[in-house]
Amino acid sequence: MRRLPETDRDVIRLADDPLYRRWLDQVTATGGCAHPVHLAGSTTTYDHATGEVLSHYATRDEPGERLLVRCRNRRASVCAPCSRLHAGDTFHLVRAGLVGGKGLPSEVRGHPRLFVTLTAPSFGPVHRPTTDGARCRPRRSGRLCEHDRPEGCGAVHSGDDALVGQPLCAGCYDYPAHVLWHANAGRLWKAFTDNLYHHLAAHTGQTRTGLRRAVRVSYAKVAEYQKRSAVHVHAVVRLDGANGPGDAPADWATAETLAACVRSAAAAVRLRTPDERALGEYELRWGDQLDVRQLHGFSDPDALRDDAVAAYVAKYITKGAAETGAGLDHRVSSRQEIALAPVTPHVRTLMATCWRLGGLPHLGTLRLRAWAHTLGYRGHILTKSRAYSTTYAALREERAQHRQSDDTTNQPGTITESTWRYVGSGHSPGAALIAAGIAEDLARNREIARATSASGRLDE
Ligand SMILES: [Zn+2]
Ligand SMILES: [Zn+2]
Ligand SMILES: [Zn+2]
Repeated sequence: MRRLPETDRDVIRLADDPLYRRWLDQVTATGGCAHPVHLAGSTTTYDHATGEVLSHYATRDEPGERLLVRCRNRRASVCAPCSRLHAGDTFHLVRAGLVGGKGLPSEVRGHPRLFVTLTAPSFGPVHRPTTDGARCRPRRSGRLCEHDRPEGCGAVHSGDDALVGQPLCAGCYDYPAHVLWHANAGRLWKAFTDNLYHHLAAHTGQTRTGLRRAVRVSYAKVAEYQKRSAVHVHAVVRLDGANGPGDAPADWATAETLAACVRSAAAAVRLRTPDERALGEYELRWGDQLDVRQLHGFSDPDALRDDAVAAYVAKYITKGAAETGAGLDHRVSSRQEIALAPVTPHVRTLMATCWRLGGLPHLGTLRLRAWAHTLGYRGHILTKSRAYSTTYAALREERAQHRQSDDTTNQPGTITESTWRYVGSGHSPGAALIAAGIAEDLARNREIARATSASGRLDE
C-alpha cells in the first residue's frame, strides 16, 4: 500500500492526542474493525434497594467523546476482523446443531444427520475446468449453433481460466430462466422441505399428520455461487423427534431413510413462475446433480466429520456474490451502472436480465432490480430452521456476558440505565492504517495460538 502524506500526517495527529492510548484500547477491543460504529452516551448501574450508584460509564471522557463498536459485517472484503468473528460464530452455530452444546443437547449427535448439496439445473452449456488433459466439451461433428458459434469446445481449461463458467454461446444461454430460478430459490427450498415430510410419510407408510407427530426436520443452509454464477445450496439436515433436538426420532428414522427421501423429495420439486412475456410459465426444479453425505457417527465410510462440515459452511459465510465474481456487493440503480460494473460478460448479462425482467409488471413481486447485484437471488447467505441450533444473537450475548462477568451490570438486585446514540462510523485515513495493523497483529497472535495448541481446532 502506498502511503499518502495525508495519511502520515493523520497518524501523527492521532499519536499526539493525549488520549491516544485509550483510543488504541478501543480499536483493539473492536478487533481492529475496519468500519467501526461510533456511539455516544452513558450507562449507569444502581442498587435497586438503596439507589446507590454502583458503576457509571460515559463516553464524555473518551477520545472524541465516543465509543467504537464493531461493524459486524460478515464479508471479508468489507471488514476482515468482523468477518473472522462472524465465521467463528457460524462455525459454532452449525457445529452445535451437529454435536450439541450452546444450549443444544449432545443427543443430537445420535440423530440422523446429512450434508446435502442441491444444485441449479443447466441453463445452457458453459466452459468447464478439465483435468488430466481432457477437453472441455468435445464434439466430433463441429456443428454450429443458430448464432454460428461452435456447439462444442475442444480446449483444455485450468480451474482459474477466465473462460470457465462462461457460456459457449451467450445467445443460446437461457438468461431469463437463470435469474428466475435464483429469484425462486427460496420457494424451491420450501417445496423441497415440504416434499421431504411427504416422502418420509410415504416411505414409512404413515399419514402426513402422523409423520409430523413423529419427526421434525431441522436444517442450516448456505448459498454458494458456482463458476457459472448459479447458486448451489449446501445444507446440514437433521431429523429430530417431534419435540425438537432433545427428542429422539422414531426407530425407523435412520440416516439411510432420510437420505433416500432427500433424494426423491428434491427430484420431485416442480414449481411454476410466469415467463418473461407473461405468455406462459417456466417450470422450476433442482438440478440433477445432488450430493447427499452422512455425517460421522454412522457406518458410512464416506461420512464427513462434524467439524469439517461446520468449517466448510463457515468458510462460505465470509464470501458475498462479489467475492466469487458473481455480482456486486452493493445494489445498482441504473442500466449504466450495470454496463460499467467490473464483472465478466456473463455476469453483466445476468444483471442486465434482472434489470430488464424487473421492469415487467407481472414479475414485480420478485424485485429483480433491487437484487440485480446478486443476480436475482435474494435469500440470506445462511438460513436455518428455528430448532436447528442456537442463534447469532445468543452467541453474541454469550460473548458479552463473558466480558462482563466481573462487571456490576446484569447482577441481581441492580438496575441499569443506558442511553446511546449513533454519532458516526468508519476511520480517518490514519486511523484506518493503525486499525489494520492491530487487526493483523491480532490475527497473527491467533494463528500462533492455534499452531501451538495441541488440539489445533478451529475454535476461536
Ligand atoms: Zn468490522
Ligand atoms: Zn471450453
Ligand atoms: Zn448460440
